[in-house]
Amino acid sequence: MSSIIQLLPDHVANQIAAGEVVQRPASVVKELLENAVDADATDIKLIIKDAGKSLVQVIDNGKGMSVTDARLCFERHATSKIRQAEDLFSLCTKGFRGEALASIAAIAHMEMKTKQDQEELGTHIIIEGSKFVSQEVAVLPKGTSFAVKNLFFNIPARRNFLKSDTVEFRHVMDEFQRVALAHPNIHFTFYHNGSEMYNLPAAGYRQRVVGIFSGKTNEKLVPVNEDTEIINVQGFVCKPEFAKKNRGEQFFFVNDRFIKSGYLHHAVIAAYDGLLKDGSQPSYFLYLQVPPNTIDINIHPTKTEIKFDDEQALYAILRASIKHSLGQFNVAPVLDFDRDANLDTPYHYKDLEAETPTIQVDGTFNPFTDDKTNQHYTKSGSSGSGSSSGSSFSSGSNSYSGYSKRVEPTTSWESLYVGLDTESIESSPFNFENEEVTSSLFNDDEVETASQKTYQIHKKYIVSPIKSGMVIVDQQRAHQRVLYEQFLLNMTVNQASSQQLLFPLNLFYSSDEMTLIEELKPSLETTGFVFEDAQTDHIVISGIPVNITESEVSLVIEQLLSDLQDGIPASSYSQNDTIAKSMAKSLAVKTGSYLTEKEQDNLVNGLFACKDPNISPFQKPTFITMRVEDIDKKFAI
Ligand code: ADP
Ligand code: MG
Repeated sequence: MSSIIQLLPDHVANQIAAGEVVQRPASVVKELLENAVDADATDIKLIIKDAGKSLVQVIDNGKGMSVTDARLCFERHATSKIRQAEDLFSLCTKGFRGEALASIAAIAHMEMKTKQDQEELGTHIIIEGSKFVSQEVAVLPKGTSFAVKNLFFNIPARRNFLKSDTVEFRHVMDEFQRVALAHPNIHFTFYHNGSEMYNLPAAGYRQRVVGIFSGKTNEKLVPVNEDTEIINVQGFVCKPEFAKKNRGEQFFFVNDRFIKSGYLHHAVIAAYDGLLKDGSQPSYFLYLQVPPNTIDINIHPTKTEIKFDDEQALYAILRASIKHSLGQFNVAPVLDFDRDANLDTPYHYKDLEAETPTIQVDGTFNPFTDDKTNQHYTKSGSSGSGSSSGSSFSSGSNSYSGYSKRVEPTTSWESLYVGLDTESIESSPFNFENEEVTSSLFNDDEVETASQKTYQIHKKYIVSPIKSGMVIVDQQRAHQRVLYEQFLLNMTVNQASSQQLLFPLNLFYSSDEMTLIEELKPSLETTGFVFEDAQTDHIVISGIPVNITESEVSLVIEQLLSDLQDGIPASSYSQNDTIAKSMAKSLAVKTGSYLTEKEQDNLVNGLFACKDPNISPFQKPTFITMRVEDIDKKFAI
């Protein structure tokens, strides 16, 4: 039988290799940025169009390439960074495999311009699907520019596999951030579809982190510094009170390379030991330097996973140094997760200056004149002080009506509430939870006489008798269902009303979160949010839906960002659905919350008024029923 094995032609081999290295536009961004860093550039510009699908361009002012190198760099296994296998263990460059450019050139239209500093002229090469189209001598500035167009033009299946622009853009953003964070000493700029996303001047680590994740980040950072023989740790962890729901901002850099490591992540979390609320995640930006011969970078094609010689020791050092930093900055004692939000200064007052109290004197008042009105004053004065503890705050003022000029004791009372609407004062429920619980549990009279139809058990379920037996409602799931339908109705019928805020809320987000929020704005507005003009690093909210409170706003948006991490659904129906679900999840009463009788009643009625009361928006049962016969059976044993 004749032999059948053949060596694959280079362009086929390159296309296959590209499958590993280039998965999406973000992979091209990563490879090109890393090449620019390796070329010792001090200024790197990233320009992309349509989330990188139509163009990824990286321009650097690095050392450039000679004419021969310019041609050779597109060959597979062509690299200037290592010469022999041993060099793999003394690496200080990002690249070394010599396959990125060959892979990208195999699956895109590529244009390269490069010039070395000492040369008069540079080289301009066009290569498409591994084929050289042209090579010219050109007048160029020092450095290199790569433009990659029409990614996967010759592999339609891969092109179709790409996600929406939003998702691809987020991936690009991630790669950009990783490289920019690892190299704060380099000036980076980033443009998407003509608008500037970042302009990050050369700086230190702290400034770079703040430059990328908005000015508010600064106050959240606790520095970490530890120098031992096997590792140097620098960087920042965030104060526990700023931990987030999503895992967004967690970065490890090992020898200036972004890496992922579940094991080291665990070390960081372990250092927070007891300081984090359930499930919340601290941000961290940690820069580890280790001797290059103690790690192996060549275990993964994209080089984001590496192998350490002595992982256990690193774990212990990392954990101890972060623990120490958190302790040193004295962040532990100020934590109080059980703080009662009701005791906080109302939002309106936070930024108001305290007013100087004023004294008014009644010049006409003479204690020695013996007239009737004066007697009246003394009498009603004593009764007035009694009435101030009565039900109405304004009752006192009537008793002094004869003395219109006199200072009325009530005015000082009322001034305390300026800015709060009177309705909320009068109807504000003062809940004395414990008292109510005990009385309703043990005072038989009350239970009998009150026409109570619902009972809360274990701050989790609401039990109510029904004709055939009883129904047990899961309070959290039921409320999720009620809110979900409310939001969905508002969004689709567009009738949501909003409450105007006295002082607009400023909420700060990183720029990729801002992009996401920008896209969600139209849908959020239909729920009742009112946004003011767009800013680069924060949103200004001047109105919120009626069924949420100011203090819940940031929670709702954070939950939304975390739920939409994998992209916003394309159709507007599923977008509304996702938002309604997410908001219902964050706003629903949780298991463990005490509900008043009225609240229980409202919830049960609300649930059974729903279109689909049987299941929560997350497809879990909201209630179960138990028939009297079933209960009888249990007693029959
Ligand atoms: P690697 O980075 O693994 O060496 P690449 O395919 O990414 O492989 O690049 C091949 C070679 O091309 C590099 O080793 C380097 O010599 C050269 N090169 C690539 N990009 C640049 C650049 N921006 N400036 C100067 N030289 C570059
Ligand atoms: Mg490279």
